[in-house]
Amino acid sequence: MARWPADNQAALLRFYGTPGPDIDRQLVDVVPPFQMYYDGQPIKRIRFHRKAAPALAAALKEIWDHYGHDQKKIDALGISKYAGAYNPRKVRGSATKWSNHAYGAAIDLNAEENGFGKGHGSIPQPVIDAFKRQGARWGGDYRGRTDPMHFEFCDATGYPGVSRPLAFVEPPHIDGDSDTTDISARRKEPDTAVVTVDADHETHVEETEASAEADAETRPSWLRRKWKGVTGWLFGGVGSVGLGWLTDPWVVVAIGGILLLFITLFILWMGPGDVRAWIRKQVS
Ligand SMILES: [Zn+2]
Repeated sequence: MARWPADNQAALLRFYGTPGPDIDRQLVDVVPPFQMYYDGQPIKRIRFHRKAAPALAAALKEIWDHYGHDQKKIDALGISKYAGAYNPRKVRGSATKWSNHAYGAAIDLNAEENGFGKGHGSIPQPVIDAFKRQGARWGGDYRGRTDPMHFEFCDATGYPGVSRPLAFVEPPHIDGDSDTTDISARRKEPDTAVVTVDADHETHVEETEASAEADAETRPSWLRRKWKGVTGWLFGGVGSVGLGWLTDPWVVVAIGGILLLFITLFILWMGPGDVRAWIRKQVS
């Protein structure tokens, strides 16, 4: 009853798709139930393959529940140190085999203490169990050189701890029209889906239209996009000679403000009557 594809390229390509744009448009947001940090910076979401996202969300939820929703405990154990998931790269040392990170189907935790060959590293057993309950394979179980930071959603048959029945959640069905839509158009305005798992282990997939509020920090606002459209059209030519910054509305507002200030100061300095006389002299 293997749920995940075997760890060979043919099976992975068939199940997840082809690394690159094809995988790109199948990524959804997993919102961790506890605060996670990448290089010390708080993160809000983890981009993950839509087929593996519910399993990742369920594993994180189990970890959160196991530690009694205690962020301090999670932090102290290094569990909140997110070290990357989606990454379109090849396996280290191979020119042809894609890493499972390239499918958006692998995640690394606490890289500092869990590098290659660090044995079983420092990942707490409940975390390892939570991932294995979703059928994931743990890098700490690799024969030979281990990779204990690494969890991946590929078939783990024959590895420790995954033979017992799994509590996994089924992959959600997202967006039936994705195959008929032009990829380049979708890449500009991708739909996003947020995957969460609630207290009853129900998976929720909340699809959001590409809208300003969905991704306010990363996606330009409607006004900004319109502005870019207009100024891009106006300054498309000058952009190539280094004036592309003119398409930034704040730069234009700042320059406008400074000009207005100078004009006001100039008028105040000369007196309005003198200004009128000066203008008359210039145009005559
Ligand atoms: Zn990894």
